Amino acid sequence: MVGLNVRHATSVMAEIAAPSGGHVALHEPQFSGAEWEYVKECLDSGWVSSVGSFVDRFEGDLAAAFGVERAVVVVNGTAALHIALLLAGVRRGDEVLTPALTFVATANAIAHCGGIPHFVDSSWDTLGLDPQALSDWLDRIAEPHADGPRNRVTGRRLAAIVPMHTFGHPVDMPSLLEVATRWGLPVVEDAAESLGSLQNGRPLGGLGLLGATSFNGNKIITTGGGGAVLTNDDALANRAKHLTTTAKAPHRWAFSHDETAFNYRMPNINAALGCAQLEKLPAFIHAKRALARRYSEALASLSGLRFFAEPDGAESNYWLNAVILDDPDQRDDFLSTTNDAGIMTRPCWKLMCDLPMYRDCPQMELPVARAIESRLVNIPSSPKLGVANKG
Ligand SMILES: *Cc1c(COP(=O)(O)O)cnc(C)c1O
Repeated sequence: MVGLNVRHATSVMAEIAAPSGGHVALHEPQFSGAEWEYVKECLDSGWVSSVGSFVDRFEGDLAAAFGVERAVVVVNGTAALHIALLLAGVRRGDEVLTPALTFVATANAIAHCGGIPHFVDSSWDTLGLDPQALSDWLDRIAEPHADGPRNRVTGRRLAAIVPMHTFGHPVDMPSLLEVATRWGLPVVEDAAESLGSLQNGRPLGGLGLLGATSFNGNKIITTGGGGAVLTNDDALANRAKHLTTTAKAPHRWAFSHDETAFNYRMPNINAALGCAQLEKLPAFIHAKRALARRYSEALASLSGLRFFAEPDGAESNYWLNAVILDDPDQRDDFLSTTNDAGIMTRPCWKLMCDLPMYRDCPQMELPVARAIESRLVNIPSSPKLGVANKG
């Protein structure tokens, strides 16, 4: 095996990400549209908080962007996942099937419902949950029951499947939905990283019963902080709105609340930012796909490393670009050399099953997730890099 020449790889990346030198971040937000105008409108009118026209407009614009009937905006992506899981029927003591390789929020949201994450292996083709591995695993450990399948090892109910579209690359949803249907399990998509990504021409986020997304500062569009619950089911969307707005019964003056609920509302000032950002989404995706193409071409000739390309049938948003090293022992050298050169790179997340609070959760063998964890590195991906530095 010819090893990776780390210095050479760093200079190839520098030519694309930082042609004029300086420090380049992993992912920076870009405000180049109506952000100032819309936020100023909130300040001028006084409608900065939990009610306002930008909230309604952002929900409508988001539903269109995600190809769903309804979007309900909330304070962050974790809250969106929490509500989506509650609405999918996850209750205290239930197990929820989810990849070990994800951001901690996916597992946290399951735990916020009183659920127990049950970790599934990932696929080399998508970096997301592997439907075949899940299917084989369920055949071994699950048995049908009146209220849904049970884990026959733990005796607990299996309540849902939560796939996550890693760095914007789609999970094989047709295969996953088939497994889910066979076992009668609802699917809640964690689409926090995949706004604008398509699979067979269809946007991610609305392919299961519910979806959740995030508008944190590092995501493809940002509202400062924010998230949304996505669904094609009107009744579920109405429930999501009710549960996230303190379950207040509509009335001109009376404070009447009909269940214990949440204050997960997205403020109007954040929604204003979101409306402006969403107008720029096509340009962001265009720039990010152009950047991915340039990395892919420039890195193709290097040995010891490959650029991760979108799976078949996908049109990814390439939210975060990633390279896979052949040799995990070169990863830390690659990380320190690139960061020393001002090119921000980061390793993959630590697997959820290795974090102290999720160490005892049920899990299958995770050979692919472990290999991805040890060999994947994210590289600079801001949209401005795809347009500014043409060379
Ligand atoms: C960002 C992210 C979230 C959560 O979003 P917040 O808005 O930060 O709460 C959830 N899942 C994944 C995979 C994410 O990347």
